[in-house]
Formats: sequence, structure tokens, C-alpha cells
Amino acid sequence: MINVTLIPVHKDNYCYLLEAEDGSVGLVDPGEAGPVIATLKEKKLQPDVIFVTHHHWDHIDGIPGLLGRHSCPVAGPFSETTRILQMDILLDEDSAFEFGDEAVRVLETPGHTRGAICLYFPESGLLFTGDTLFSLGCGRLFEGTPEQMWNSLQKIIALPDETLIYCGHEYTQANAEFCLRVEPDNQALQKRSEAVKALRAKGQPTLPVPLKTEKETNVFLRAGSAERFAELRALKDRS
Ligand SMILES: [Zn+2]
Repeated sequence: MINVTLIPVHKDNYCYLLEAEDGSVGLVDPGEAGPVIATLKEKKLQPDVIFVTHHHWDHIDGIPGLLGRHSCPVAGPFSETTRILQMDILLDEDSAFEFGDEAVRVLETPGHTRGAICLYFPESGLLFTGDTLFSLGCGRLFEGTPEQMWNSLQKIIALPDETLIYCGHEYTQANAEFCLRVEPDNQALQKRSEAVKALRAKGQPTLPVPLKTEKETNVFLRAGSAERFAELRALKDRS
């Protein structure tokens, strides 16, 4: 199994530190070098690989600083070589990549950006979604159509219910308010919203979250069609 540590970076981003049983160390979306280097130092770890989900600065800006201290390959979306300059390993859905002793599956999830990917670790049941899926939300459609994003979300919906979702941002509390406007009578959503409030009041993260919970509470996953998804995304953009 892979052990995951959350490293808060910037205002509300998370970088994730992965430790496999064989001692392999990975990072997902190091948006800022300082806090990540501090965590590595404290744990006396060296990264073996840096994964990136998409090209936005708040997910990749820590890479040069990390590579200045630690030599390791950077693995990210195959189509983003001009926008993520440090990549050594190009990932697509056919990639056979391993981390520790585990296979890593890549989901191509365009919508938020053209080249966005999610990283799935089937054995440990972990999914790193970047800005494609948030708890109770999804990424804005900067470079894709609602149809593309809806198709991308279908790939996530198809994963096992117990999959733990690790998102790129701590947006859950604000997202809960929007979901409650759309589905005020959803009891699972009401319960999750209260739990989220309590966690945030204590300064604790609301992630990871099981996919099952998201399927019961996230109105974007529950849209049922690309058309309804498009309506909800437009409504959220205006709110
Ligand atoms: Zn982004």
C-alpha cells in the first residue's frame, strides 16, 4: 500500500507525497518548492519521481526548485511537452508505468485543460485528480467543452466506489454550498456538508474522500447527461 501525506501549498492547493512499501517516494503536483522540500527534509526522503496532472503554474511551479536539490524524473501528460518543460516520462492511457511495486494507470481527462490527466493506483485504490474533480465540484472548463469534461468524469465514475480521491485544491466547503443549492434535500450531501464544516473549523483537510461519497453528493458527477452537466457548470461559473 502507498502512504500519502498532504502538503498544503499556495493558498489552497495540495501537493501529495507518496511513500511505497519498497521505499519509493513520489510527489504529485508540487506547486511550490519550499513546503515540499521542508517535508522531504523532515522525513529524510528523496523523491524518485515527480508526477504532474496538468500545466497550471500552481501545480508545477515547485519543480525547478525541487530538481535543483533532488535529481529525479518528472512524469506528466504526453501532450504538454511545450507547457511542462521538465518532463522525462510522457504518460498517456497506454502507459505501463510502475511506482514502487504498483502499476500506475493514467486516465486522460481533458476539460479543465487539454492535456489533463488523473493518476490511478489500482492496488492501493488511490486517484489523484488534479483540477479535473474536486470534492463536491469539478474544474472550470478553461480549454475544453462540457462534453469533454463529462466524458472525463465518466472515467472516474467507472472506478471502484472505495477509491480514495485526492484533489488539487481544498475547495470543498465552498463547493458544498453550491451543491446544496442544487440538491437541498440530498441527505448524504447535508451530512457531508456538516462533516466538512467541522473539519475546516479545526483547520483539517476534507481530503481524501471515497468515490462513493462523491457519487452520492457531488452534483457534477450526478448530472446524468452532458447537457445537464453543462447547465450546472455554467450556473456555478456565474455564482
Ligand atoms: Zn488547474
